[in-house]
Amino acid sequence: MIPKNNQIKLVKIRMTSKIGLKHIHAIAPYVGGRPISEVAREYGLDESKIVKLASNENPLGMPKSAQDAMLKAASDLGRYPDSNGFELKNVLAARLGVPTDWITLGNGSNDILELAARAVAQAGDEVIFSKHAFAVYPLATQAVGAKAVEVPATAIYGHDLPAMLAAIKLSGDKAKLVFVANPNNPTGSYLPAKEIEDFLAAVPPNVVVVLDEAYNEYLSPEQRYDAIAWVKRFPNMILSRSFSKAYGLAGLRIGYGVAQPHLTDLLNRIRQPFNVNSLAQAAAIAAFQDKEFLQQGFELNRAGYIQLTKAFDELGLKYLPSAGNFVLVKVGDDDQAGARINLALLKRGIIVRPVGNYGLPQWLRISIGLPEENAAFIDALKAILA
Ligand SMILES: *Cc1c(COP(=O)(O)O)cnc(C)c1O
Repeated sequence: MIPKNNQIKLVKIRMTSKIGLKHIHAIAPYVGGRPISEVAREYGLDESKIVKLASNENPLGMPKSAQDAMLKAASDLGRYPDSNGFELKNVLAARLGVPTDWITLGNGSNDILELAARAVAQAGDEVIFSKHAFAVYPLATQAVGAKAVEVPATAIYGHDLPAMLAAIKLSGDKAKLVFVANPNNPTGSYLPAKEIEDFLAAVPPNVVVVLDEAYNEYLSPEQRYDAIAWVKRFPNMILSRSFSKAYGLAGLRIGYGVAQPHLTDLLNRIRQPFNVNSLAQAAAIAAFQDKEFLQQGFELNRAGYIQLTKAFDELGLKYLPSAGNFVLVKVGDDDQAGARINLALLKRGIIVRPVGNYGLPQWLRISIGLPEENAAFIDALKAILA
């Protein structure tokens, strides 16, 4: 018998009152970009006309090379995936210049962030990250019962590394983990290599630093630096990278961590044995070698950034310089501005990301899309603000 809706609700309410750890109840669940189908239903819109610029996905979609590799791998899905990701790790290791046992594959790089937290932090410990940083850092911290220490950002919404270092020192020896995002999401802020390197050199060796480079591939040539050299130099560092953004594989869930073997070994002990599925592994091998796709996405992103920021300039809207594939724009001076303009955009079939939960209620984050998608967003925004 399928219970009636109201019966299901009753069961849920009873469970929440008695079951579950306190620190789990305290977690505010992640709020993602609204799915196209949901927005279409809610506002009575034609799905095919909706523009989604809300989750920093690659507007080119998945590379054809990865699609072909995935279809080939699909014939063998009766078997478990390669638990050790042999082929993908080899391809990554060869390019990055590290041994394969320095690499951990993750079910999205989100998995790497969580594994890091689970491996080194527990109740009584502190995990340090910046205000306005990626929402998964507090989630991963709270899930293990550790205390999340949010360090105020700089005046231009970037990470304040000296202040983060001070927070580590202030914690006594409670700080076990630090998350640094470069570029950061949702602000797009970028830290120059020298600042990160000085920070890494100053962090006590018993504190693990996760350098989250989910948008690394979008950095301009002048902004690039050699993070692998840091992994080799600092035994307490984990570099995290993703296939979801520039490589166009968000739906497959795959990312990786690079660290020295003593750290990789820890992550490996607690990951699910088959945390990365066969299709994702096959697609990632192809996408990682598809330099043409990466270059095309890079150029599209540059052009889209200029298109969007030019429109913001014309509209007199403040925005933050972004090193990623998204732009944070200030759409009003009151704390309802983000929610209000977001709703007006939704009604016009444009999905972007309100960032009130990041302490930025006057801003909206716009993922950079195809030229025509950016144009549709700009037209809608102009109409709303007129
Ligand atoms: C998107 C994102 C990730 C995680 O992406 P995955 O899809 O889990 O690989 C990690 N860090 C930042 C800053 C992100 O924006």
